Amino acid sequence: MSYLEKLFALQGKSAFVTGGAQGIGKSVALGMAQCGMNVAIIDLNKQKAEEAAHEVEKAGVKALALSLDVTSPEDTDAMIAPIVGAFGRLDVAFNNAGIANNAPSESIDFSEWKKVIDVNLVGVFLTARAAGRQMIAQGGGGSIVNTASMSAHIVNRPQPQSAYNASKAGVIQLTKSLAVEWAPHGIRVNSISPGYIRTEMTGNLREDWRRSWLEQSVTPVMGTPENLVGGVLYLASDCAAFTTGADLVMDGGFTVV
Ligand code: NAD
Repeated sequence: MSYLEKLFALQGKSAFVTGGAQGIGKSVALGMAQCGMNVAIIDLNKQKAEEAAHEVEKAGVKALALSLDVTSPEDTDAMIAPIVGAFGRLDVAFNNAGIANNAPSESIDFSEWKKVIDVNLVGVFLTARAAGRQMIAQGGGGSIVNTASMSAHIVNRPQPQSAYNASKAGVIQLTKSLAVEWAPHGIRVNSISPGYIRTEMTGNLREDWRRSWLEQSVTPVMGTPENLVGGVLYLASDCAAFTTGADLVMDGGFTVV
């Protein structure tokens, strides 16, 4: 195996992916499986999580489907035992489950506003904490990748999404904080900031909003979940051994201008 092959090697490592039942999480889970990683799919949607786990298994690796709510500390505290039971250890965590809400701030129901913060920020904290505890208990090492968004960096127009933007900006600073806390344990913590990606989340967007987004982008097409897989695998691998607390923007250049 060459030096570079060794750096990229993920064969035999174990991961969990939250929001892994569909969209970005599912594509990354399948990418991990193609690299020989065992993958636990974590999602609210039990049936889709099981279907995704079945697809992961087809790559010849071990898979697990866990149906749970990332906003529940009870659920996230309990999720590591079955993963370690099935795979033996945890090397990589992709904290990716998220929701959006595009209601105006002056009229959005507060519980809906708070739910976005709960899933996108509190959920990332709880599943990252569960991963970090296990990695520390194993003796250290490991890679945690959190999903932020280009909406952490800019206020995307024209749709109003104050909770979403705030939650994603929070993910970036949470990522840096955990990177600093867990560096002594050899655990790297990074985030990704995707641009406008074709998934169920963006599938129901108002047509005028969609057009406006594409007109604002220097790359006037939607990205695909597959466009993000290499970036997450890079951060998961030893290629990124000297990278922690960083945010990898993959937005077709949207936030450059
Ligand atoms: P998606 O809606 O296709 O998938 C999200 C998944 O998360 C779903 O399977 C859903 O069941 C799961 N989920 C939601 N709440 C959960 C909870 N409380 N507990 C467990 N699972 C839960 O969305 P996607 O586009 O694949 O988005 C994935 C991540 O990427 C999100 O964090 C999103 O904010 C982020 N993101 C998406 C885009 C985009 O354009 N699609 C852009 C930037 C960032």
